[in-house]
Amino acid sequence: GTRQIFFKTKYIDPHADPSLFANTPERLKAVIVILVRNSELEKLLPTLKQFEDRWNKKYNYPYVYLNDVPFTEEFIKKTSAMTKAKTYHATIPKEMWSYPSWINQTKAENTRVQMELDNVPYGGLESYYHMCRFNSGFFFRHPLLDEYDYYWRVEPGVEFYCNIDYDPFAFIQKNNISYGFTISLKEVPESIPTLWKITEKFIKKYPQYVSSDNSAKFISDNNMETYNLCHFWSNFEIGDLRFYRSEAYLKYFEFLDKAGGFYYERWGDAPIHSIAAALFLDKSRIHFFNDIGYKHEDFGHCPPEQEVRKSGKCQCDPKTNFDGFQDSCLNQYFSSYI
Ligand code: GDP
Ligand code: MN
Repeated sequence: GTRQIFFKTKYIDPHADPSLFANTPERLKAVIVILVRNSELEKLLPTLKQFEDRWNKKYNYPYVYLNDVPFTEEFIKKTSAMTKAKTYHATIPKEMWSYPSWINQTKAENTRVQMELDNVPYGGLESYYHMCRFNSGFFFRHPLLDEYDYYWRVEPGVEFYCNIDYDPFAFIQKNNISYGFTISLKEVPESIPTLWKITEKFIKKYPQYVSSDNSAKFISDNNMETYNLCHFWSNFEIGDLRFYRSEAYLKYFEFLDKAGGFYYERWGDAPIHSIAAALFLDKSRIHFFNDIGYKHEDFGHCPPEQEVRKSGKCQCDPKTNFDGFQDSCLNQYFSSYI
């Protein structure tokens, strides 16, 4: 099948590179980024425990916690106690988490009412819209991230099923990878009615940003005529912040933001990161982290290969692996390579 061909011929296997397993790894300009609410503290602590045990206790990469309101003393104390690494807690500047001047807030409110009626997840929740816009256009510009090149996004409640015995940041640096994922799936169509039309407009205006070696097949089944709704699930990301800071991405975000779809529709950051990565990056710069077992809410990635499970001491049941499910977009991802 496609999976076998991909792994045999296109997959860059971190475990095949002894230099990544050196005893005294060099620490890169990399950071763990966690956007989280004070109310999610209890959900976050077990995630941190697992993340540290399974990986970061060996590397001690710093954490940056971001919030639209100030973190409580309790939050700061309890999260800092989970690691030897440095932790930073910051409030997001207002302009990164509020309506831009050109947005009609009555129209935005009507959108939320309609989205709720259409059962779009979080469609009625105003803060969710700000969160998606922040993750699409601003997290990488938060001043606390200025000094970093790489990030790993973590959310409260997620699980890490397997040991990770190398530094994924070193791996992506060495292999010139800009975006790494574990789960890919289909977006809710009602959340993005005009996203593709506007993206097409953008590409027409700026064809120079589209890579000639892109992975358009991941996001379209018909040669870019329509969007197939495939995206990388952005609650897990390991990537290069310079991808978002690039002219192509910044222009794309600005174009989308002006179109108003972060409030007049319910655009998520996942399809936006994904479409940008699929179009602007060479396909070799997107990596599937098969060896990182991971779970977010209802779906998980559980590596089925025995050698991966063994080297990672994975605690998940491969029967739960999302890769083989109907809504997985892993085949579309592979298809852009094969
Ligand atoms: P889902 O992953 O799409 O189901 O949405 P989540 O509720 O998990 O939100 C995505 C991420 O943004 C999580 O890390 C949340 O903690 C964070 N988040 C969502 N809404 C807010 C908010 O209003 N304030 C803050 N500080 N974080 C938020
Ligand atoms: Mn989540």
